[in-house]
Amino acid sequence: MVVGEVARPVQTLVIGGGPGGYTAAARAAELGQEVVLVEAGALGGVCLNVGCIPSKALITAARDVERMTAASQWGISAQPVVDFAVTQAWKQGIVDDLTGGVRRLLSGVEIATGFARFLDPQRVAVESDEGVAHFRFDSAILAPGSRPVTLPDLPIDGQRVLDSTGALALTAVPASLAVVGGGYIGVELGIAYAKLGARVTIVEALDRLLPGFDPDLVREVERSAERLGIAVRTRTQAVKVDDDGLVVQSEQATGHVPAERVLVAVGRRPNTDDLQLEQAGLTPTATGHLEVDEQRRTAVPHLYAIGDITPGPALAHKAMAEGRVAAEVIAGRPAAFDQVVPLIAFADPELASVGLTEAEAREEGYEVVVGRASFRANGRAATLNERRGLVKLVADADTQTILGLHLAGPDASDLIGEATLAVETAARLDDLAATVHPHPTLSEPLADAATAALTRLERPAR
Ligand code: FAD
Ligand code: NAD
Repeated sequence: MVVGEVARPVQTLVIGGGPGGYTAAARAAELGQEVVLVEAGALGGVCLNVGCIPSKALITAARDVERMTAASQWGISAQPVVDFAVTQAWKQGIVDDLTGGVRRLLSGVEIATGFARFLDPQRVAVESDEGVAHFRFDSAILAPGSRPVTLPDLPIDGQRVLDSTGALALTAVPASLAVVGGGYIGVELGIAYAKLGARVTIVEALDRLLPGFDPDLVREVERSAERLGIAVRTRTQAVKVDDDGLVVQSEQATGHVPAERVLVAVGRRPNTDDLQLEQAGLTPTATGHLEVDEQRRTAVPHLYAIGDITPGPALAHKAMAEGRVAAEVIAGRPAAFDQVVPLIAFADPELASVGLTEAEAREEGYEVVVGRASFRANGRAATLNERRGLVKLVADADTQTILGLHLAGPDASDLIGEATLAVETAARLDDLAATVHPHPTLSEPLADAATAALTRLERPAR
């Protein structure tokens, strides 16, 4: 990096090295652009370092503990002993390994370490321990990601009150964990720590967990939470922590829940406030997002925005897809971000959802037909001892086009790939029903749900 007042010219500058930024930078370089990627922290961003990957590693460890205990049902006796320091080291090894992969992916990209701020619509200053470097660019892709929302009465102290980063870095499983927020992070980590031995309470302001998912799916998670001994307190607010635990308040009462540690996971906010965006001529919305068109262009046409700072779900695969689009548009290719985005909660069982839910489809005015299939009747689920869950398919009764597929069950996170292809390609019920699904596999209920919907349509009254 050249440090000094003279701005170094570059074709495409990418701000942020998370899934959005690194995907965009790699694709732009692949398409012949000269690319500089500016990263203030660790390459891989939130997802790789303190998000998707470490959380899924802990979820795997927790699932193993549960399965080892359950295995006595099929004649295998094991008493799991968790050495959490080793679990954490294993988790970090995965992160380090994948970070190496990102570095290799970026072999055609110059990486500038430091924090970027706009000086004007064409220039940024990048501040690091080495000084300040200036870059002048033709196009820039903004991918600075997001950070946890904080609650004024529950400040994160990194000791007792933690955000997700702190909860992922614990050196011992706490005796009790109070989780504020029953969304993705609260449910995923709450369930994981319960399986690892913590007494978990989830405090959620709304009337159910995982409000973004179909209630029929969420019911499966609520049953698991009960089985795991997790106390779920809906329509409840966290007030403060004191010596007796976390003080919570509902319409009915105020009380304490046990809280050796508290995890606050009440959403995330885009990192758009410290980039001097006003110098670039950009104004974020009240939620901190930047509005973009289908090409991910902002109001200033040579500035693109992707990932958690654009509206829509804050997910790594959305950021990556947007990153590819922005890079291709800059390289002069026709590209647009108009795909459906699948949602997954790595809960127990896993929830995965793509396209319209039944309620959304009805709201949009479709005459809806729903097909259901259960994992209870599935041979592979039985042999895995994972018989909970369902597939719920939503289709347009007139055209038989599949509008949405919603799964709760074993490996739903992998099964949603096929479901996403079905919705993305506007597959019809008979396309999915007639596709031969191998037996015995967890994929069979997808076809069964399509068959169930067709059967309903064949009946005179729906
Ligand atoms: P980020 O990953 O946030 O990366 C932005 C990068 O930009 C950071 O590295 C930051 O240091 C850098 N940066 C910021 N400002 C500047 C600046 N001015 N100059 C230079 N660099 C800057 N999503 C999923 O799809 N699946 C999951 O399973 C999943 N699990 C998650 C679990 C947890 C605990 C959390 C917190 C999140 C999870 N997410 C998951 C969400 C996912 O991590 C984000 O949606 C994703 O990381 C967003 O990617 P991004 O590229 O927009 O930004
Ligand atoms: P979230 O938006 O998923 O859930 C936050 C929850 O907190 C909501 O249910 C909300 O009603 C509740 N809440 C808000 N204020 C509250 C309060 N004062 N008291 C009690 N409850 C309150 O947010 P998150 O769990 O922090 O996760 C952030 C984002 O990270 C997610 O929205 C998602 O985009 C991403 N993420 C994705 C995955 C995945 O894809 N598997 C996993 C983790 C995180």
